[in-house]
Amino acid sequence: MFGSADSDIAEPSHHVRRCDACATPARVFVLLTSGGGMAFCEQHARRYYDTLRPRAVVIEPLPGVDRPMRTLST
Ligand SMILES: [Zn+2]
Repeated sequence: MFGSADSDIAEPSHHVRRCDACATPARVFVLLTSGGGMAFCEQHARRYYDTLRPRAVVIEPLPGVDRPMRTLST
């Protein structure tokens, strides 16, 4: 389901990720350039987007999230 380039990344699809800021179910997964990963609810993803963007390799919705990430750019 994901490309081989993601082989060293913890796969978030088999359990419910919680927002790292408020512990509600996360909707967005952020892979940082440092190698770590963070998950955020939509509210916190928006709040931290400008901070995370230059440090992130990937910012993407978690599997099962139907709302596209482009909502974060508004
Ligand atoms: Zn949150």
